[in-house]
Parts: sequence; C-alpha cells; structure tokens
Amino acid sequence: MERYRISPGAAVDLRRWPTDEAEDIRGDKDAAIEETRKLNDRLESLQELLFAEGRRRLLIVLQAMDTGGKDGTIRHVFDGVNPQGVHVVPFKVPTAPELAHDFLWRVHRHVPGDGKITIFNRSHYEDVLVVRVHSLVPETRWRKRYAHIRDFERLLVDEGTTILKFMLHISLEQQAKSLRSRLDEPHKRWKFSMGDLAERQRWGDYMAAFEEAIEQTSTEDSPWYVVPADRKWYRNLVVSRIVVGALEAMDMRLPAGEVEDPDSVVIPEVKWP
Ligand code: ADP
Repeated sequence: MERYRISPGAAVDLRRWPTDEAEDIRGDKDAAIEETRKLNDRLESLQELLFAEGRRRLLIVLQAMDTGGKDGTIRHVFDGVNPQGVHVVPFKVPTAPELAHDFLWRVHRHVPGDGKITIFNRSHYEDVLVVRVHSLVPETRWRKRYAHIRDFERLLVDEGTTILKFMLHISLEQQAKSLRSRLDEPHKRWKFSMGDLAERQRWGDYMAAFEEAIEQTSTEDSPWYVVPADRKWYRNLVVSRIVVGALEAMDMRLPAGEVEDPDSVVIPEVKWP
C-alpha cells in the first residue's frame, strides 16, 4: 500500500494520480471484499488490544470532495469494531465561538486519548481547503497554517499518537455519477445539496488546494495516503490494509493483569439476603 503514500517533500499531481486502478493492480472484486471482511475481524481484535493496553492512540483523518465516500469508508472499514473504542468526529462549518478562536482550538479537544481510535470526518485540513478556495481568511493567514498543522501533528505524535491521513480521490466523472444517483434514487435524495454543484464548479481550485496541503504536510510520522476511490470496494480494501498495518506495527501486548496465579483465586459465594 506504500504506492499510495506521499513521501515527505514529494510533489503531488492529482490529475495524474489514479482514481481507479487497472485490474492487475486492484485485483478481483469478490476477493477484495473477502479480504476486507477478514481485515475487519483483525481490526476488531487490534482495537480491543489497543484499548486493553491503554497506552497508544490512533488518529485517522479523512478528507475528500463531496461524494468522495468518507461516510461509506467509515461504515465499511470499521464495521464490527466495538463502538466504545472508536470515536467519529465530523467537522462542519465552524460555529461563532469556534470562529472566535484559532483554527486548531476546536480540533485539539477531539484527538484520541489512551487506547482510543478517533476518526476525523473532515478535519483541520478544511482550514486550508474550503477556507482557501472561498477566501474565508486572507492568504497570508491560511498559508501560515501549513506550518501550524505540521507542528500540531508533531506534538500529537511526540506524545504517543499515530496519525494516518487519507484523501479519497475520485474523478470528476465519478462525482457526476454519484450526484446523479443521489437525485435519481429516492432513498439517497436527502444527501443531495445544490451547494455541492457550486463546489463542483471549483474542482480545479480544490485540487490545487489539496495538492499543496498534502505536499506541505505529508511527513514521515504523519503521512498522507491518496487512495483511488472511484470503486468503493477497492477504496475500502486500501484503507483497511493501511489501518490494520499501522496497528500491527505497534506490536501491542495484552497487559498481564494483576493476578499471577488465576487458579489460586476463589470467587466468593455471596448470599443475596
Ligand atoms: P459532509 O459533507 O462532511 O457529510 P456536510 O454536508 O454537513 O457534511 O458538510 C460540512 C461542510 O462544512 C462542508 O461544506 C465543509 O467544507 C464545511 N466546513 C468544514 N470545516 C470548515 C471550516 N473550517 N471552514 C469552513 N467550512 C468548513
């Protein structure tokens, strides 16, 4: 999966980056779905281990264009994982109190604690994406945010957090299809917003903003992965492999517990008067 990782300092050209892969790379759909299911089981055990060990933290950042599949990725990759150990935090248009503070103020309080996995559905990267595309703050201000983001993420890593950042990369054609099906299929219509069409018109500006954000903030310890996302099953497989790989690499151990000789412990008989 290293093919999708952006090396520190590398230039990112999203026009050339795959949104789909040829069959010899992506493999067969049924096999991929089966592998993702097995990875799901593995993720369930690894999450339990992370929780039991209670020393490490995992932060997953998901960014994408509208219809890019953030919600579907969360649903599929974390299917079956104990909801007590995973927090999903969506970042919406900032509220007035949030806007009255620095852009990281609303973010920091949601980072994972010991033994926890947190998924950011959108994130502090909106502050160099939508904010840049719509000129919500002057360039002199958003441009400094790359360095602030690098410093913030380094702080988290230094204090014991593993960070994985994913851009789910879809094509313009795939977005058109998804938007159309949101209109055509009654059970999806609630997801359609006219605002998404206005954002689609700014595709080029968004891609430029993504490219620079990723180039500026993909580091050894806090890498970006740009995942081909036109096919949901392939996207799910790639994200699952990377998340499971990162947890495996933590080489976690179940804590010994306080009892050395379990046979010596007697569970007391108790009467309920
Ligand atoms: P989603 O598309 O993630 O399912 P919404 O449809 O509610 O959820 O969209 C959230 C909106 O909030 C997006 O348009 C996003 O660009 C916007 N947003 C998130 N963070 C910021 C931010 N810091 N500044 C301005 N807009 C933001």
